[in-house]
Amino acid sequence: METKQFKAESKRLLDLMINSIYTNKEIFLRELISNASDAIDKLYYKSLTDSNIKLKKEDYKIDLAVDKEKRTITISDNGIGMNEEELETNLGTIAKSGSLAFKEENEKKEDVDIIGQFGVGFYSAFMVSESVKVESKAYGSDKAYSWFSKGVEGYQIEECQKEDVGTTITLVIKQDTEEEKYSEFLDEYKLRSIVKKYSDYIHYPIKMEVERQKLKEGSKDEYETVVEIETLNSMIPIWKKKKGEATEEELNSFYSEKFYDFEKPLKVIQAQAEGQYSYNMLLYIPSHLPYDYYTKEYEKGLQLYSNGVLIMDKCSDLLPDYYSFVKGLVDSQDLSLNISREMLQHDRQLKVIAKSIEKKIKSELTTMLNHKREEYVKFFETFGTQLKFGVYNNYGMNKDELKDLLLFYSSTEKKLVTLKEYVDRMKENQDKIYYACGETIDKIDLLPQVEAIKDKGYEVLYLTEGIDEFVFQVLMNYEGKQFINSGANDIDLDSKEEKEQLQKENESNKAMFEIMKESLVSQVEGVRFTHRLKNHPVCLVSEGTISIEMEKVINAMPNDQNVKAKTYLEINDSHPIVEKLKKLYETDKETLKDYTKVLYSQARLIEGLSIENPTEISNLICKFISE
Ligand code: ADP
Repeated sequence: METKQFKAESKRLLDLMINSIYTNKEIFLRELISNASDAIDKLYYKSLTDSNIKLKKEDYKIDLAVDKEKRTITISDNGIGMNEEELETNLGTIAKSGSLAFKEENEKKEDVDIIGQFGVGFYSAFMVSESVKVESKAYGSDKAYSWFSKGVEGYQIEECQKEDVGTTITLVIKQDTEEEKYSEFLDEYKLRSIVKKYSDYIHYPIKMEVERQKLKEGSKDEYETVVEIETLNSMIPIWKKKKGEATEEELNSFYSEKFYDFEKPLKVIQAQAEGQYSYNMLLYIPSHLPYDYYTKEYEKGLQLYSNGVLIMDKCSDLLPDYYSFVKGLVDSQDLSLNISREMLQHDRQLKVIAKSIEKKIKSELTTMLNHKREEYVKFFETFGTQLKFGVYNNYGMNKDELKDLLLFYSSTEKKLVTLKEYVDRMKENQDKIYYACGETIDKIDLLPQVEAIKDKGYEVLYLTEGIDEFVFQVLMNYEGKQFINSGANDIDLDSKEEKEQLQKENESNKAMFEIMKESLVSQVEGVRFTHRLKNHPVCLVSEGTISIEMEKVINAMPNDQNVKAKTYLEINDSHPIVEKLKKLYETDKETLKDYTKVLYSQARLIEGLSIENPTEISNLICKFISE
């Protein structure tokens, strides 16, 4: 019999498949089942207009059979079939020039890259098979043909016997090697799990004959082997159901099965789009941080399906980083099953879908924020940091998208509030958004410089996360209102007269401040009086872009960066200590210096900073106590 040669391109691809080191060999089954399903689709659509086709919808099926002894897997369908010419052109030539073209461009890359997660259709059978036989009878033809190949040497086509229209593919599975246990594909449980994993939502039943041990009739302990036919796939994907059609319980249990999370999701998002591209999405916001969320093992992404067939497990292009906690899937009938990971990145349709996913997530979160605040606060406490990083990263590229989803603790409301809420209730004479940083809400609440702002009746946002102040720096302002740190030197709470009076006083005590500054050897830019303190004697304020809190955050990061905020030591001008200092300046400059050191240490401690010379300070305090 004549052995025909594969077309050059096909031969290369085939070669690649046979010698594949790709580990995900099990996808061959997904490919063959999808082909079978497509073939059935074609016959079914034909039947809508062709009354000669007697099959009813429920007659269509895909059969799987395994023979362990002969090492064969058989996949049969009652779809449209192929005639001699179609066997030749469809299986002898490769249709997937796309993946091959990709291979050409990336000649040096590993095979793995090309096969990727996607396989390349029919030829993937050769990853696991010694030989492949395709027997087919096309609809409308009275002859059947078989196609047989052992791989690159070529293929043979001949007439064969086949009763019904459709296609039967028989794979002879390779012998096991040191590295590969091909025999596992002959295991009924393995096959069932592969079908479940990739082809659960194929809309025709995938049936397999399974052997079961059953009690013999009338016997209590004698078993017999019976053969049963089992449908392996569940067929209707839950995400294809319209909103409201699937119960909450169904949606939740789908989530836990699929994403291995046994806590109920916080939010289920279902949506369908029709038009230029049609697709369904089913997304979940988990109710807690995934356990590996902050490890590098965590991969963001949504499952991607092409009409019920899984083509990618974690498609990261579908989610922006700041929504990386979202789980779920997207199914589109317009996506090709064999699109490669690299091609996907450039796929226009995928970009459109990704954009609409982002919009959908945002609108759901906004609705939650406005109408279910408690739920949103829970969400924000879990994933808010992620949103903040979203604002900060990429030079603030996404800040406008995200700024209204942020929450900060409010000094007046005693709970988390949005920036919009803050700005909407700003006092008439207020033109800035005040904030203060610290480790905890309680600690910030006690900060001396916060006291004065609160005293003026202004609301203060308390920032407790390292990223927070960087977020404000990137945002710059909200609705034109600037953010200002309670510890910034230009906070400007005074009236014109108060300012003038303070300036005068600072001016006339200049010499004293010089001596005080001297004692702190270049640790501060200067010493001066302030009005910003109410009861406390001293505080530390910063000037310029780096605040004291930022200094702490940046220096705690694992890199060599070492920054220092420019600081001033400020003294409460209405505190009794002022008189004492002035007197010491006249009578005992050395003691003035020692006092300054202690006051400076106090200010640092209040800011949550450490003291560089604790022994010295401790000795000084003891000295003052015993005097
Ligand atoms: P693809 O399915 O992406 O087109 P394949 O290499 O998997 O690529 O298959 C090539 C072609 O062979 C298919 O397009 C289809 O026309 C035909 N074919 C494959 N399997 C079957 C089948 N079971 N029944 C009918 N035609 C099939």
